[in-house]
Amino acid sequence: MNGKFHEDMTINSLLRRGYDVSAAKKVAVGNLLIDVYSNMPVSLSVVKLGPRNSECARFHFDNLLTPKDVRDNWGLLQRSAEEAFREPAKKCDYELILLKMGVVLHAVQDFYSHSNWVEQWDKNGYEVSRIPTWDEAEALMRTNPNEQVAKDAAMIVNSVHTGELGTNRKKVKKNAETHDDLNKDAPNSKRGLMQPQFTKAMSYHDLARTLGERATDEWEKKIEGWIRAINSNCSGNSLKPEKGLRRKIADENRELRNLFESAGRWEENKDPEWVKVTSAYLKWGNRFLGEMKEIVSKDFKEFRDKNPMNKYL
Ligand SMILES: [Zn+2]
Repeated sequence: MNGKFHEDMTINSLLRRGYDVSAAKKVAVGNLLIDVYSNMPVSLSVVKLGPRNSECARFHFDNLLTPKDVRDNWGLLQRSAEEAFREPAKKCDYELILLKMGVVLHAVQDFYSHSNWVEQWDKNGYEVSRIPTWDEAEALMRTNPNEQVAKDAAMIVNSVHTGELGTNRKKVKKNAETHDDLNKDAPNSKRGLMQPQFTKAMSYHDLARTLGERATDEWEKKIEGWIRAINSNCSGNSLKPEKGLRRKIADENRELRNLFESAGRWEENKDPEWVKVTSAYLKWGNRFLGEMKEIVSKDFKEFRDKNPMNKYL
């Protein structure tokens, strides 16, 4: 998803769940930083440090070329995320909880714009409000396996995949769809601007966004549940950053937006303006460097090391 949509989905969802505005923005910052570190020009990564591009690569739901890859990735994300909230929940460390939530939500949201999920449901006659999220589909298959929607879910789960991006081509099966074929990241991306059959007023980009936002709500509730099970006194919507941190979040947020805009990846896809990209990266405060390194390189080490996409890289 382009920056604006990751940010909107995240903030809309968290505000609905009663989060403080600044806390919600911090979650959005964690979310956007995954893309910023992933796309940082190599020449700048020497100056800006932070998690490496290759470490962030697992958080975009790309390169899951078979239904089994997709299912394994969801399972691994779920297990790794639950584990990753254990320590910060004990201390109710809201700095880490909020950033970490953003990192996990980035992956969750990208599934809907990088996979053929919404297209498959549309082809089978489902209008947007009837298309389940991944978690909803799994629950349906478990609880009401004889209902038509559960049977359709079973079929679609068996034909789901995401696009190939920057892999070792020799390891990729022939005819694999690419990220560019499939992504609905922007209203003007190739697939994003196409029209679904059964949701007339929307584009595929809109479908992916709607499902991504619903999934954000579900994952926020799930993460809250994990945190409360460890520490009943800790709850995301009671976390309020103090004044100094509020300013830090607002500054980082503004600079990130500037980075996305100069890279042509804020709202519509545009050509990057390289001079501006470099200057935006140089101006960027990189305020959460230590935390992001800890989260991506250390806390999600297993998610990275055991990721099903590794076999294509
Ligand atoms: Zn992404």
